[in-house]
Amino acid sequence: MLGGVKINRRKVVTYSLGAGALGVAGALGYREWRRLHYAPVANVVEDHPGLIPAAGTKVTARRRLGRTNLQVSVVGIGAGGLDGPEPIPRAVDKGMNYIDTAICYGGSEKVIARALQLNPGLREKLVIATKWDVGHNWKKSEILDSLNDSLKRLGVSTIDIMQLHWLGGGHKFPDDGFNRLNNQELYLAMEEAKKSGKVRFFGATSHAAERSKILRHAIDKGAFDMLLIKMNVLDYESADLPALLAHAKAKDVGVVVMKSQPAGDFIPNGYAKSKYSIFQANLRWVLDHDVASVVHSKIGTDSTYQDLAVGAVQERFGELDRALLYHYASALSPDYCRGCGDQCVPACPHGIAIPHVVQFAMYDRQYGWHERAREHYRELPVAQRWAETCLSCSRCNDACEYGFDAASQVNYAKQRLS
Ligand code: SF4
Ligand code: SF4
Repeated sequence: MLGGVKINRRKVVTYSLGAGALGVAGALGYREWRRLHYAPVANVVEDHPGLIPAAGTKVTARRRLGRTNLQVSVVGIGAGGLDGPEPIPRAVDKGMNYIDTAICYGGSEKVIARALQLNPGLREKLVIATKWDVGHNWKKSEILDSLNDSLKRLGVSTIDIMQLHWLGGGHKFPDDGFNRLNNQELYLAMEEAKKSGKVRFFGATSHAAERSKILRHAIDKGAFDMLLIKMNVLDYESADLPALLAHAKAKDVGVVVMKSQPAGDFIPNGYAKSKYSIFQANLRWVLDHDVASVVHSKIGTDSTYQDLAVGAVQERFGELDRALLYHYASALSPDYCRGCGDQCVPACPHGIAIPHVVQFAMYDRQYGWHERAREHYRELPVAQRWAETCLSCSRCNDACEYGFDAASQVNYAKQRLS
């Protein structure tokens, strides 16, 4: 029995053999997933629907979020797609105490305010983390105005964690991550916000391919108590995340993880039946590392996924997860853009910002975040976003060592986001 899912002996043997035959043990997350495209292995993926826990099961595990000393639930509510208040008290009732939102997540902060209004006592049960989009040349007064707007939308007097959002993300031109971190006005605003009691702790976030370097720079600034990082099985090693986690630990900076599911909802061919198990295995894989919590937007929008998250953390990452993720990651690899830009961007005759365009196409296609995808796309500098100039020459595809079909995604953006 794995966490309530009955697995017969034949299945256990199949998983074990699958793992052994491919030399999986210890390898997952410590290899490059390049042009591998394994066919699904039927016995690994068959009828493995994921664990929906028994009613009343709760997330009891808490981890310390670095020097904030906050004890946070190991899974938390990603408020990116939040469209109604109901999932928040439901998640809290199931033992979650961490919610992650942002100024740019549509009406998310206001939805949280509504949940707090409707549920007396809820505020005290939640660690609320939001994000501000401070640019490299913002003045202290603009930064504090942005904070005050968030406080107003959330309807609270104190924000537990305010994070500097999406460093190196390309949506705040010009943003290389480092220039926004080097804005001295930011630190003056942070000092004032802390003194006034409007913010308890500060964090920094990045999805960028360079996030390990950018966030290590953030840690060295000494002003950030936690990080929110994109981390998943497909680019853990190539994004140099082991070095980032080690540095965060050495400085007692807490880590929360986002984007644990490498391609959002997209499941490679043959893996549909294992969709829920993959979701759970990815959460468990993240929690097998030195991190405090993992947030996911489906926990804020979908009661099935919320239950799956509760079920996922009743077990530790195990050999069955390892085998399943190995096959899944191998099958997904050519469909997953690492956002590195290493080969495709130099190959493109028009200098299109392929990683960013692909990311926003993914927001539209896989996450269903249509308006946000368009907004971010329009924020790119014209010369870089102009997917319209794409010649469909496929040079980006030929150049990508992972075999990702960037050209089709740039064309998707051309059709949908322009
Ligand atoms: S298409 Fe390939 S080279 Fe370009 S950003 Fe994506 S993974 Fe990197
Ligand atoms: S297919 Fe489009 S995005 Fe890719 S290299 Fe050619 S022009 Fe650039």
